[in-house]
Amino acid sequence: MTRPVLTPPGGHRKVLLHSCCAPCSGEVMEAMLASGIDYTIYFYNPNIHPKREYLLRKDENIRFAEKHGVPFVDADYDRDNWFARAKGMEFEPERGVRCTMCFDMRFERTALYAHENDFPVMTSSLGISRWKNMAQINDCGHRAASPYEGLAYWDFNWRKGGGAARMIEISKREEFYQQEYCGCVYSLRDTNEHRERQGRERVVLGQNYYTADENEKNG
Ligand code: SF4
Repeated sequence: MTRPVLTPPGGHRKVLLHSCCAPCSGEVMEAMLASGIDYTIYFYNPNIHPKREYLLRKDENIRFAEKHGVPFVDADYDRDNWFARAKGMEFEPERGVRCTMCFDMRFERTALYAHENDFPVMTSSLGISRWKNMAQINDCGHRAASPYEGLAYWDFNWRKGGGAARMIEISKREEFYQQEYCGCVYSLRDTNEHRERQGRERVVLGQNYYTADENEKNG
């Protein structure tokens, strides 16, 4: 596979990658490895509920990071703070203000870690999913990085140049755990309600894994 050489902002080679899960970060990781970028994964996702689902997603991401020898920072699961910030937004739709808060919270902590550990660039795997609003994510990323002089948010479009297709290919090749909802308890509730309206089964945690011949289901 021929890949273009990627250049982070400012020509820096050291990047902190906020990762939401293995399926979304798999392509981002391999793209940066192919460009010789020295990066560390920062896993900070206190939105994911329940804890069993959080551990499933995190462990899958650790497995892939270890395979590539990429450093992995396992940050706090401070879900009490996440719920405090989500108060009053329980019935907001996906891509609305609750999601802005959720991205802000995750990126604020990522930016602080980047600042404290001399990373000049931070980026995220969140925008590679077609279920997400990339402009919303990029706004949050730039806002989080802006208080720190010398820190840039890299708003690279990881979907382009075949990235979205490779994300699925890698997920199948690695047989990653395939989550069926965005992450928070409210997205789980809304997904189940949607499924019930369609006469489908409710989400079962820990059940779905990508396989080599499976069609794309969720990102
Ligand atoms: S739907 Fe997803 S992005 Fe939005 S608040 Fe829930 S976990 Fe966060």
